[in-house]
Amino acid sequence: MESELPPRLVQGLTGEARAQVERWWARLDDGARREFATMSAACDEDEVDDEVVDEGANRGAGEPAAGGVAPTCITPAGLADQVEGGLLGLLVGDALGVPYEFHGPRELPPRAAIEFTPPAGFRRAHDGVPPGTWSDDGAQALCLLASLLARGELDLDDLGARLLRWWEDGYLAVDGRVFDIGVQTREALTELSLGTPASRSGPADEHANGNGALMRVLPLALWHRGDDAALFDDATRSSLPTHGHARSQLCCGLYCLFARRLLEGAETGAAWSEATRQGAELWARRGGAPAELRAVDPARAPAGGGGGYVVDSLHSARLALESGPYEHVVKAAVALGHDTDTTAAIAGGLAGVREGALAIPDRWVRALRGRALLDPLLDRLLDVRAG
Ligand SMILES: [Mg+2]
Repeated sequence: MESELPPRLVQGLTGEARAQVERWWARLDDGARREFATMSAACDEDEVDDEVVDEGANRGAGEPAAGGVAPTCITPAGLADQVEGGLLGLLVGDALGVPYEFHGPRELPPRAAIEFTPPAGFRRAHDGVPPGTWSDDGAQALCLLASLLARGELDLDDLGARLLRWWEDGYLAVDGRVFDIGVQTREALTELSLGTPASRSGPADEHANGNGALMRVLPLALWHRGDDAALFDDATRSSLPTHGHARSQLCCGLYCLFARRLLEGAETGAAWSEATRQGAELWARRGGAPAELRAVDPARAPAGGGGGYVVDSLHSARLALESGPYEHVVKAAVALGHDTDTTAAIAGGLAGVREGALAIPDRWVRALRGRALLDPLLDRLLDVRAG
């Protein structure tokens, strides 16, 4: 019977670990259960059993299971789930972080209480914005996705026009309302509105290295079908309409390579190592300044403090990914304080790619607002990836 959870999926699991697999199963529809049953029957049974048992054996008491425990063997369904997970993970992370923005870590509630609706008495940022609303991060990521789907390539002028439309008309913003915009992005969009081409509208000063391009770049990695060099090149260029400095471009390139390795199923540490090795090579090949590689090197860069500097954000997200499954990742990102929505969007997108949409807590997926904006774009993205 497809409606019953196959016992071997919870073999060796107890407590929250078992409950997480059971919740995952409960959220599958009948078709997905049938598909899973068919595919899991085709898997090497010993391999699946060992994997599930090992996950349980290595986990401490009371520690939740990794988000992708059960579906390791359902590779054909995995990519779509991961692509959806990336987009949803970014938007949910953004929405989770919105009320906590501008607070230092000590002013925040304990992680267990970090939810879409903050605890009573907490002085929330963006008062009046309903819980579950994505901000500029999510809206701009959707602008990039919509542009890629419409143009079939990275078209900077089209992207710039959509970003401007977001700022002026609330395009792809929930309720059509823009309530959050970065300093450099505002400057760049003003330039764009005056007719400056999108390839030159982003401030290129070294001090203009906020995280405003990094926060929106993930859809490029989810959509892209080209080789790694083409992905890296497009990722760096996608920064230009709002963030023209080489460092922001490099961070976007590294992030997309990181996301692609996770999409392919690489373990997180290996995915980062491979992305930085490859990124350094591709950066050098295009004549990028070695000083920028040094600036993003974790050994020299800021440790990841939840700030708005693009390098800090990249490392905050990278470190948050070590916190456990999706829910832990985004809560760890928010717990850093400061630019909470952006850090959680950047980290949450990667965790969603790594673990798939089914690993994102159902209470957040159901409470995410703006589905009428998101769903048509998501459907088209999944069609592109399936094609
Ligand atoms: Mg924001």
